[in-house]
Amino acid sequence: MYDVLVVGSANADLTVRVDRRPGPGETVLGTDLVESAGGKGANQAAAAARLGARTALLARVGDDAFGELLLDAQRDAGTELRHVLVEKGARTGTAMIVVGPDGDNSIVVSPGANAALSPADVTAAREVIAASAVLSLQLEVPERTVRAAVAVAAETGTRVVLNPSPAPEVLDPALLAAADPLVVNEHEARRLSGLPDGDPGRRAAALRDLGARSVVVTLGAQGALALDADAAEPASVPGVEVEVVDTTGAGDAFTGALAARLARGASLAEAARFAVRVGAASVTREGAQPSYPTAEEL
Ligand code: ADP
Repeated sequence: MYDVLVVGSANADLTVRVDRRPGPGETVLGTDLVESAGGKGANQAAAAARLGARTALLARVGDDAFGELLLDAQRDAGTELRHVLVEKGARTGTAMIVVGPDGDNSIVVSPGANAALSPADVTAAREVIAASAVLSLQLEVPERTVRAAVAVAAETGTRVVLNPSPAPEVLDPALLAAADPLVVNEHEARRLSGLPDGDPGRRAAALRDLGARSVVVTLGAQGALALDADAAEPASVPGVEVEVVDTTGAGDAFTGALAARLARGASLAEAARFAVRVGAASVTREGAQPSYPTAEEL
C-alpha cells in the first residue's frame, strides 16, 4: 500500500534568526517570525513523499491554524493524509526555533496533540503497517506508542527505521532491537553508544553490539556512515559541499530519503548515499519541509 508509513510528530515550526544567541536572562532582537510545517514525523513523511515515495503519515494535530498549516504542507508534498487524526480542542505541537549566524539551530518543543498519539491509534492501523514496506519512527511522541508500533511491525514483518530523537539517556532495548537501521546524528550516537570519545565508526559498531540490527550515523557536512547487519566495516559516505542557509530538519530529510530508498529495495549504503544528497540539498534553503527537494531538483 505504502513505501513509507511514518508514525510520529507533527509540529508548527516558529523560527527566528539571530546574530547572537541570548544567554540566560538576556533578550536579543531577531528577524520577523516565520511559521512553517515541521515535527520529525511530518518532516520525514514530507521528505519521502516529495521524492516520489508512496508515503502516509499517522499523527495527531489540533483543530487550530497550525494544524491546517501542517495538513496543507503534507498535501503539497503528496503525503496520504487519511491517517492524520485531528483532535478537537487540542493545540497542535509547536517547535520554537532560534537559528544562529552559522545556520545552526536551538529548539524547544511543546508537544500539544502529539502527546495524545496512543498505542491504540497504532494498533488500529495494524493493516496499514502490514501493507507498508518501511515503518519510520522517532521519539517525539509517547514512547509507549513507539513501542506499540515496533510490536506491530515485528508481527507483520515490516522493516523499522528508527531515529531515536530527541535522544533519551537510555534507549529501550526493544526499540533498539527493532531498528534496521537506527539513524543517529553525532550527538545521539555519542549519548546512546556510551562512547563520548572515539570515532563515529566505533560508535556505530557499539550501537550494533547493543542490539540495533544496522546503524547509520549522520555527520553533518561530513556526510554519513552506514553499518549494515553483517558488515565488518561501516560504509563511509562523504558529504556534499553546499552553501549552508539553515540546517533545520536536515536529519529528517536524510531519514525520509533513506526510508524511501530502502522501501524500493536499495542496500543500506546505497540508501545512505542518496540520503546524504537529500540532506545537503535541504540545508541550502530556509525551514524544514519547505527546504526539501523533489527528485527532479536533486
Ligand atoms: P541532524 O540534522 O539530525 O543534526 P546532521 O547534522 O548529521 O543531522 O545532518 C544530516 C544530514 O544532512 C547529513 O548527513 C548531510 O547529508 C546533511 N547536512 C547537514 N549539514 C550539512 C552541511 N553543513 N553541509 C552539507 N550537508 C549537510
